[in-house]
Amino acid sequence: MAIQFARCNAMLSLALDKQGRPCRYVAKAETDDGVIADMVNHISTEHDIDGDDHVENIRACIKTH
Ligand SMILES: [Zn+2]
Repeated sequence: MAIQFARCNAMLSLALDKQGRPCRYVAKAETDDGVIADMVNHISTEHDIDGDDHVENIRACIKTH
């Protein structure tokens, strides 16, 4: 089964983690929708960004491993 993934920094180039370093989070799932749900949750909780506004950006960054 292929794994889909998207890097937080590929989408939000200025996103920083809690130590002030570029965020290295990678959302992974077996489906695009799973990746999007994971990333929406991540940017909402870690970066205080409304992930629902970024669904299309996330979709554009999804790659298949
Ligand atoms: Zn992040």
